[in-house]
Amino acid sequence: MAERTSEADLRIGASAADAVKTRRAGDRPAAGAAAGSDGAPAVGIAAASGETKQLTCITCPKGCSITVAVEDGAIASVEGAGCRRGEKYARAEATNPQRTVTASLCVPGCLEPLSVRTAEPVPKARMADVVRAISQLTPQLPIEMDQVVCPDIAGTGVAVVATKRLPA
Ligand code: SF4
Repeated sequence: MAERTSEADLRIGASAADAVKTRRAGDRPAAGAAAGSDGAPAVGIAAASGETKQLTCITCPKGCSITVAVEDGAIASVEGAGCRRGEKYARAEATNPQRTVTASLCVPGCLEPLSVRTAEPVPKARMADVVRAISQLTPQLPIEMDQVVCPDIAGTGVAVVATKRLPA
């Protein structure tokens, strides 16, 4: 894929707008039943041991406020999730937060911008690299819906796909 230097209209997907706050353990409210305290492995855990992470679930419009407690490098409890999906989201957010990146790209010979997104969420820590790499893409007409415009963006192993069709 060729590169270009002109600036693309890039924006991060709405899923990145969630509020995340980390507090010391002494600040957290009294613990109730420790939902899901199954001692999951603390691979790449984002919150330090002895801290709580306050999350707003972005999985559905209800926006539950979820508290994740970390003890001895592992998730000790997840409280406040209204469903299993939210608990899964909170656990992932505390260990390896990821985001889907969306963007709009200029296409040579076309006045209409091309909207694209990552085919899967990418690690939050790599988002700046991904946004930069997407801005360098120059997809060529014609472009089909769901067409892969980059098979591996910024070495993440995640493809970028078109979210609209642009005929020749
Ligand atoms: S925890 Fe469940 S019900 Fe609450 S916002 Fe997340 S997905 Fe929706």
